[in-house]
Amino acid sequence: MVDKSPFRVIIIGAGLAGSLLANGLIRHDVDVQVYERLPKDSKREGYQIRLGAAALKGMRACLSQDELERIVQKFGRANGSRSEAPVIYNKHFEAMLDLSTFPVYSKSAPISRVVLRDALAAPVSAAGKLKYGCQFSRYEILEHGTPQERVRVWFEDGSHDDCDILIGADGSHSKINSQIGLDNISQIQSHVSMIAKNELATKRYLELNPRVSQKPVIVFADNKSLYFCAYLPEKIDDSEPSKKSFDESLSSSMFGLHVPSSQCPDNLATLPTDEKWEFVSQALKDWSTE
Ligand SMILES: Cc1cc2nc3c(=O)[nH]c(=O)nc-3n(C[C@H](O)[C@H](O)[C@H](O)COP(=O)(O)OP(=O)(O)OC[C@H]3O[C@@H](n4cnc5c(N)ncnc54)[C@H](O)[C@@H]3O)c2cc1C
Repeated sequence: MVDKSPFRVIIIGAGLAGSLLANGLIRHDVDVQVYERLPKDSKREGYQIRLGAAALKGMRACLSQDELERIVQKFGRANGSRSEAPVIYNKHFEAMLDLSTFPVYSKSAPISRVVLRDALAAPVSAAGKLKYGCQFSRYEILEHGTPQERVRVWFEDGSHDDCDILIGADGSHSKINSQIGLDNISQIQSHVSMIAKNELATKRYLELNPRVSQKPVIVFADNKSLYFCAYLPEKIDDSEPSKKSFDESLSSSMFGLHVPSSQCPDNLATLPTDEKWEFVSQALKDWSTE
């Protein structure tokens, strides 16, 4: 006898991919359940994320127009243009290559990762399809090779749930990927990566060299690389939509540096923050002051 239970999807992970897909499935009346290991309102934020045309295409496919517009309003604006591509500089701050001049290079706009994560998860949670605090541990295939074949999903607390399709949206250290046998993460030993998100007051933003504030900056020099991007979303005043100001509560700048491991002290990761910044300034001491 063929199983007549409705077709059911389980998604592990209410990050960017899992919640976006769940929105699309809900809108197309597919029975879906999302499980997320973190508690609701987790402060694990992340940094800025840049979204280009492919991401918007996915969002248009999965979200309502209203939901999409609410997200697009949170994109950062730099000099009136929301979408930008990075400019590659040499260490003297001379522009070498503006990637926006290449039509095939997808421009992108920055958004706070936690704002995007929460905006995507909210409709799924409101539909009662998102369970927080539930950590996936493994899956098994039931009645393998028969018409009744299903996937049983096990959680750390010993509970389980069954589905027809299991989707692993559990991020870069996916347990589902490891159980399938995918081993697609390679640790780079030659360099150490440092990344920081900083508050960015509007006053400070307006003082920045426009070349630094308006487009993401990339520098490759001395076997090091640097990335900097400012994010300053507009504040929308519903009573006066034409009035423009910036939402300082969300504005930030992101800074990333890759340095050869041989130039880093062994205890770099455990140094106090001011000593880490001192290391950064020493690493860049021969570079332009910008
Ligand atoms: C600083 C920084 C900048 C980035 N910038 C960009 C960018 O500009 N453009 C870009 O495209 N990408 C960028 N990325 C990468 C981007 O953040 C990831 O590609 C994106 O978040 C991946 O989405 P995801 O849904 O696959 O995973 P995530 O958003 O990481 O979501 C995975 C979710 O699964 C949950 N989870 C994990 N394990 C389990 C488990 N066992 N059980 C239940 N739940 C689990 C996690 O808690 C998490 O909520 C950036 C990343 C960083 C760190």
